[in-house]
Amino acid sequence: MSDATSVQAFDVSRLRIGQGMDVHAFAEGRRLIIGGVDIPYERGLLGHSDADVLAHAVCDALLGGIRGGDVGKLFPDTDPAYEGADSLVLLARVAQVVRDAGYRILDVDSVIAAQEPKLSPHRDAMRENLAHAMGIAVDNVGVKATTTEHLGFEGRKEGISATAVCLLYREADV
Ligand code: MG
Repeated sequence: MSDATSVQAFDVSRLRIGQGMDVHAFAEGRRLIIGGVDIPYERGLLGHSDADVLAHAVCDALLGGIRGGDVGKLFPDTDPAYEGADSLVLLARVAQVVRDAGYRILDVDSVIAAQEPKLSPHRDAMRENLAHAMGIAVDNVGVKATTTEHLGFEGRKEGISATAVCLLYREADV
């Protein structure tokens, strides 16, 4: 920001936040894919796409930040084109929608709630996958995992939830 000739002034009124949330139920005979990582486990998550609960939460955070609806509106589960879809590809498309609307993705943070399996060993791989899909630095993507102390549907191992927030900057009025 020191070089006034090359960098436009930072305008806090152009910051936007977005929040996203997603839930998928466990099912037999499905792969467990979270943050683009194929995690060895006895069950996977049920969904029309690959059911990547974390990628979907990040998609919804980004779309929330541009007041652009949600991932279900952009990629309807009634559309056969998205059956078994790689959600990192969907996230890359959402990130492009965000850029096309004139926004820069500054930062993303997220939490996965799952009683099982243990997700912390996969956290850095998830951060790299999400960052790559959005075209931002790994340093700007946070992923955390928590159990729910055996409470609720996550705690009963019926499914997994994820929430995400993002910070966007409106660079251009498109
Ligand atoms: Mg979903």
